[in-house]
Amino acid sequence: MSHAPVDEKAVGAGPSDAGAGESASPGAGAALLEVQDLRVHFPVRRGLLQRQVGAVRAVDGVSFTVPRGATLGLVGESGCGKSTTGRAILRLVEPTSGRVRLDGVELTTLGARALRRERRQMQMIFQDPYASLNPRMTVLDIIAEPLRTHGLVRSREQTATEVAKLMEMVGLAPAYMRRYPHEFSGGQRQRVGIARAIALRPKLVVADEPVSALDVSIQAQILNLLEDLQRELGLTYLFVAHDLAAVRHLSTEIAVMYLGRVVERSETEALFAQPLHPYTQALLSAIPVPDPTVERQRRRLVLMGEVPSPLAPPAGCHFHTRCPHRMEQCSTEVPEFTERTPGRWVACHLQAPPPMPEAEA
Ligand code: SF4
Repeated sequence: MSHAPVDEKAVGAGPSDAGAGESASPGAGAALLEVQDLRVHFPVRRGLLQRQVGAVRAVDGVSFTVPRGATLGLVGESGCGKSTTGRAILRLVEPTSGRVRLDGVELTTLGARALRRERRQMQMIFQDPYASLNPRMTVLDIIAEPLRTHGLVRSREQTATEVAKLMEMVGLAPAYMRRYPHEFSGGQRQRVGIARAIALRPKLVVADEPVSALDVSIQAQILNLLEDLQRELGLTYLFVAHDLAAVRHLSTEIAVMYLGRVVERSETEALFAQPLHPYTQALLSAIPVPDPTVERQRRRLVLMGEVPSPLAPPAGCHFHTRCPHRMEQCSTEVPEFTERTPGRWVACHLQAPPPMPEAEA
């Protein structure tokens, strides 16, 4: 049976529609998620015998912690390894080495059965809400799938009741639970994805670019929904994005990645006030300022060239081929990831923060 396209207003306003190196980490004692020296290397094979000729170092020694109930924004250009980091934490890709602990449970060594059990505690929200939903399943079946897999619903009535509750929590009208993904707008489909992700009441949610495929007008609604759900359910988020502006609102702390390594980590507002790494500075300078006069006078830091291939990353500081402040040692010595001031970690040979670009006269 076909239905008329779902009207965004009829579906109902949701709670928010109105609108590189190893390190000990701050807050590690209260951490829900602890990632230590995580590496994901994908072998590159060639020839008839498929001999390994190298490895793509997608994630190359990443460490961080996320306190319970907090949000860590993981940011960097496409190909920097941020999504692979998120997937490796959930073991959707296998880590090459390193440790991941969720609420004290070591995930990297779990066998298949134990991992399936532990998956209840960690879920993912995907970038493309359409591609991540099975077009042949109704919204009821999509949201109910994890509940059924883990044996948490026993009858059709109970399933429908649970799905209705979840739909209400994400601002969707339960009356539409028997419809299919194509009958919903992009924002509504992402709400379905979020309902599925919270169905098992996980402790950790990895949100992989959850708003970047959506219209700008819808993005704020989804971000507000994620914030409301975090408050209500005590969720901890790892929020992966390519854009610093997208993570600012939700993130307690931000980690900036470049070519498989974290180059800076800091409490969010401190990072925006004074970035310590030249790459963070360049990312920040790419964010437009709402005031047109300020925007016109602003001088941007434009990075030259593309991100080098993770198959053959530059020696020393990976960023030295594009860094406007590079020095001799940068091309040979890997900068240590050190805590400069409490809570502010950076991997750079510069002893002082790089000067911000001057405004144009
Ligand atoms: Fe630039 Fe050198 Fe710092 Fe790397 S270590 S970011 S090349 S100044």
